This record gives sequence, structure tokens and C-alpha cells, in this order.
Amino acid sequence: MSMVPKNDETNLEANSATKKKRGINIQGYQIEGLSIAGQETCIIVPSLNLAFDIGRCPQRAISQDFLFISHGHMDHIGGLPMYVATRGLFSMKPPTIFVPKAIKEDVERLFDVHRAMDQSELKNNLVGLDVGEEFYIRRDLKVKAFKTYHVIPSQGYVIYSVKHKLKQDYIGLPGHEIKALKDKGVEITTATTSPEIAFTGDTTADFIVDPANVDVLRAKILVMEVVKYAEKFLNKAILLIHFSARYYVEGISFMSFLISRASELGYCHVSGMANGNTRGTWGF
Ligand SMILES: [Zn+2]
Repeated sequence: MSMVPKNDETNLEANSATKKKRGINIQGYQIEGLSIAGQETCIIVPSLNLAFDIGRCPQRAISQDFLFISHGHMDHIGGLPMYVATRGLFSMKPPTIFVPKAIKEDVERLFDVHRAMDQSELKNNLVGLDVGEEFYIRRDLKVKAFKTYHVIPSQGYVIYSVKHKLKQDYIGLPGHEIKALKDKGVEITTATTSPEIAFTGDTTADFIVDPANVDVLRAKILVMEVVKYAEKFLNKAILLIHFSARYYVEGISFMSFLISRASELGYCHVSGMANGNTRGTWGF
């Protein structure tokens, strides 16, 4: 029989469960991070090994191999040198960092300045991705940048799952024949893609009515900060971020819960949940 009082036992269990599963589970994805307007935004999806934006480099972001930066405002990019430096310190492989093409040279210069100051290598693969461009981060996972509307160059990212299926013509062929075709360079599979997670960064609602952004509105999960044109969203869940620090944390959590049920509810009224005088942080 355990000597630990029941309450403590329960607490221990709760603590270890908390340690194992941080963040919130939305549509099968565990999502962690924090977002406080003007201070820091970092949204982490550990199962996909990636993070969006890095205002101050939370510890949990360091182990993600892929990082997507939406724009150059400090609360979205301030933690970047620390992220790269810490991975170097822990002998982790150089991360792959995606930035809007317009700021790629500036980001390179930023690393050069840090290298000059501390004589570290700051190894990383920096990818300047333009709106509409795609990049495979895994055979079954690709990213596409989309246009957002902010006061400086900015973009969002859609992460797609990619499934490769044998073309109809080759179904039923023996394995060695399929291999022979493959060796000859014949394209024997077709790829079907599905938008899983979209992240907007800072933007006005204009991105919603941009016809090029249709996949953003039908991604399983949309992480964004604006709610407008509610009827246009086909997402299964919407995670609202980037609240001002003046909002109640309880209010925001509740709002997030409501929004995560957006597809069931059909419509979410989200105004009137904030309290203007109490400070809170938005971490999950
Ligand atoms: Zn911004």
C-alpha cells in the first residue's frame, strides 16, 4: 500500500501527465506555444517537428528542426539567434529556417553580426520562400507560403500532408515490374495533398478574402488572430492567438475552446469575453 496520501498521488499523476502532454490537442495535433501581442509569438507542433515564429525562443521550440518566420517584427523573430545558438550548443543538427524572401538577406546579416560578436558558427539552413512557393520538409509533408497583409513584408504558411498513391494503371502489377518502371524513371505514383495547419502571423482580415488563400480557410487547423468574415471559414478548428496582454487568460481559453468547435457550432460570437483591466498571458 502506498504511503503517499491520495491527494499527493493524484497531484503526482497530474504533474507527470502535464509533463508528458503540454499544450492543447486540436484535431489530433498537440499544439504548444505562447502568443502575446507585441511581446512574443511562438506556436509549436512537436509531432511535425516544427514551430511558427520565435519571439523569444521558448525552451520547447529548440528541439524543433523546422522554423517558419512570418515577418521581421521583433515579437515574431527576436528569438531566432538564440534558437540557432542553443541548437549549436546542444550539438543538434542545423535547423531549417523559412523566412519571407524579402528579408532573407537581412536575416543573413543578423547571423553575421552575431558570428562576429561571439565567434560562433550559428549553423543553419536559411530558406527564403516567396508567396506561392512550396518546399518539401518531408516526403509526406510540404509547406506553402501565402500572402498576408501587414505593415511590413509578411507571409503565412500552410502545412500540407502528402500521400503518394500508386497510379491506377499500375495497380496489380508484380513488384519487380513496378520496380523496373521506377528504375526507368517512370512516374508511377500520384500525390494527393491535404492542408493540415495554416499559420497567419500578423495580418489584417484581407487575407481571408484573397482568392489565392483558399487552402488557408480549409486547413484542418487555422492559427490566426483576427475574426471577420466568419462565414468564409471551412476549418475544423481555429486557434486564436496574439491577444493583447490586457486580456483575461480564462476569457481567452474559453474563446479558444469555442473556436475549436467552430465547425460544429457553425458560428462563434467571440466579442465581450475580454476584460480590459486584467493582465494575462496566452500560453498553452
Ligand atoms: Zn507584426
